[in-house]
Amino acid sequence: MSVTHEEIEGWLRESGDRLETLWRLADETRKANVGDDVYLRGLIEFSDYCARKCGYCGLSAENKDVHRYRMSKEQIVESAITARDYGYGTVVLQSGEDRGYSCSDISEIVTAIKAETGLAVTLSVGERGDDEFAEWKLAGADRYLLRFETSNPELYRLIHPDLPGKVSDRFAILRRLRDLGYEVGSGVMIGIPGQTYADLARDILMFDELDLDMIGVGPYLPHPATPLAALAKEKAAENDPNQVPGTELMTYKTVALTRLVRPKANIPSTTALATVNRIQGRELGLMRGANIMMPNVTPVEFRKEYQIYPGKACLMEDAAACQDCMRYRIENIGRKIGVGTGASRNLDNRQAIEKE
Ligand code: SAH
Repeated sequence: MSVTHEEIEGWLRESGDRLETLWRLADETRKANVGDDVYLRGLIEFSDYCARKCGYCGLSAENKDVHRYRMSKEQIVESAITARDYGYGTVVLQSGEDRGYSCSDISEIVTAIKAETGLAVTLSVGERGDDEFAEWKLAGADRYLLRFETSNPELYRLIHPDLPGKVSDRFAILRRLRDLGYEVGSGVMIGIPGQTYADLARDILMFDELDLDMIGVGPYLPHPATPLAALAKEKAAENDPNQVPGTELMTYKTVALTRLVRPKANIPSTTALATVNRIQGRELGLMRGANIMMPNVTPVEFRKEYQIYPGKACLMEDAAACQDCMRYRIENIGRKIGVGTGASRNLDNRQAIEKE
């Protein structure tokens, strides 16, 4: 569906009963394009070491209070087997930007998971080299997730200090990943201090411009040990009418508009949404455009250390409890669990175009 910048900004500023129309449009678009199946991705948060100093993230190298862990190759493969045993079609390997795993360490992990489980493998390990992305693809990785966080270049630079000698350009990386044949996922945080309604509208249009297969959005949740948390407080006190609030409602509006601009994309109902509304956040995300959930299969002993933001939902539940909870939530709203890997429906199109 073609939606203009003005229309998107209008919806983002809407707060009344008219929103029922947006929810209905998003739900109809979801149903017509990706159906009632909800695909489950088993999330393995395998390391919380990070070389970067992202202004919003609790795992920033500057946060000395984090207890850092690295899962071994065996532990990671074990978690992937748990995901397979629960019937999930995909595992997502996520970590801080941790050079403690070399290029070939990650390749070996991917190869072992493919050999042991046959699951689709998604990597989400931050900004690494082009040669590394290429090698991991050859090792069998299917998908890559890297949020661009904001399309406002000044705001982006403010919250992503570069590593020495290396300029961070996530748009370039996303294009590179696409050329390498990955299914590509990205997304943004909602309510970063300094993010305006016009910025967020541009972010949403960017999802289409980048031809994304997967789009994850969630509210920005200030982590007290980060520099951005203080800025968020100052910004909130200003009552700037252009500042996007990082609220639950703004997140649903963004999910719904994302569905309208990218009808076939895989869109998760995220943990950050479950964190702002533990009772119903996941379901409302699914009812307003989302079609994916990401149950956590990280062993509980590690999971509690992976605190990108405080108060993260589902911290103490083991993988079995997560699995039951997700199944219940999906069936309770009349949807069903998808079988298989739940690959991007955009791929069909892209492969057809390539054959022409
Ligand atoms: N190191 C990887 C994985 C980061 S964690 C990478 O950089 O891609 C995954 C996502 O969590 C981030 O992309 C960011 O959008 C989100 N996140 C991080 N800190 C957050 C916070 N304080 N509030 C909300 N979301 C946050």
